[in-house]
Amino acid sequence: MNPEDLCPRPEFFPPPQNAPLAPPLYPAAVYRCDSPEHADDLAESNTAGFMYGRDGHPNAEMLAEKCRLLHQGERAIVCGSGMSAIAAALLAQLHSGDHVILSRDLYGRSLQLITQELARWQLTSTTVDTCDLEATAAACTDRTRLIVAETISNPRLRVADIPQLAELAHQRSAELLIDNTFAGPTVFRPLEYGADWVVESLTKIMSGHSDVTLGLLVGREKLWSRVTNTVSVWGLASHPFDCWLALRGISTLALRAERANANAMQVAEFLQQHASVEAVDYPGLSTHPDHALAKKLFAGQFGTIVTFHLAGGREATSNFIRTAKQIPFSPSLGDLSTTLSHPSSTSHRGLSEQQRQELGIQQGTIRLSVGIESAEAIRRALEEGLGCLSRPT
Ligand SMILES: *Cc1c(COP(=O)(O)O)cnc(C)c1O
Repeated sequence: MNPEDLCPRPEFFPPPQNAPLAPPLYPAAVYRCDSPEHADDLAESNTAGFMYGRDGHPNAEMLAEKCRLLHQGERAIVCGSGMSAIAAALLAQLHSGDHVILSRDLYGRSLQLITQELARWQLTSTTVDTCDLEATAAACTDRTRLIVAETISNPRLRVADIPQLAELAHQRSAELLIDNTFAGPTVFRPLEYGADWVVESLTKIMSGHSDVTLGLLVGREKLWSRVTNTVSVWGLASHPFDCWLALRGISTLALRAERANANAMQVAEFLQQHASVEAVDYPGLSTHPDHALAKKLFAGQFGTIVTFHLAGGREATSNFIRTAKQIPFSPSLGDLSTTLSHPSSTSHRGLSEQQRQELGIQQGTIRLSVGIESAEAIRRALEEGLGCLSRPT
């Protein structure tokens, strides 16, 4: 056969004679149908298989199934990012004129999605402090369809009373959507406490290596009818290679989370007794306003994020960040190594100084994402930075 025809020839791959131990990667964007009848069956889900990558592919399915089991959910789907998973949940169930209640300290892009983007389709919303159950109840209208909150909020790490929020939502025939990114399924599984939908940014601790952008949506069978189609039509699908990496990341999630959670507790205690630190937020500390709730809800762990506040404002904070050279300033979370973020100049830079004050975010507020190094190494890295604060300049 001439190379012109041989090179672009479609290949036929026999199935492997025995199963590989590691999951295969299927980058294919499209699959072969045997016949129009087979295509019918695939399109109507009467037979297992795939047709087009945007509609679904084996790597997304393997990952979704693992996550579904971790959350003990009825259905799960993987999307191209945490934001696309949140968008999928909203687009699949809300109509124009519906009302949504949002936690005021929701992830900034989630707030924007609802209060700016979906508002253009006449979705209405009220932003409240969802830790204040009375205020949340008072914000409900007869058009309220959904309450959206995060298990652990950014950056003050307030814990949502998910059983109470679920009860409140269900009394009003609304649903509860929980963003569980800061906890992850080893710390907390919102579906077991009454949430109807769970989203997670798999970009963070779930994948755990800062090399993937993906999101997860888990929910109940009876609410699922539009989800798969929404993800395909709005183009929210994931990439096979990212799913393959994330599945590999999750194979060590339980170990990584155990280590990082234990480290976070030690880091919080260390910072709390340090003279240069004004205050520490960590749900594992008895001084945290939601400590009792976190103890009741969480599986003996309190998350891998620790927020602390330095006196001395922006200047002291810049000095700390510059001096703590072993801790990269990377405005994300959930890496293997300890990283830090500065909410005033990153996640919350779009807010006015007064709005930040209301959320308890100052120029001296620093958010640590604690990694899996030894607690001793993290303490040394922090001490290096904090040392510059006690020295006269
Ligand atoms: C990062 C993050 C998101 C968005 O996830 P992406 O994967 O970046 O799209 C949503 N919610 C929380 C709490 C996050 O930290």
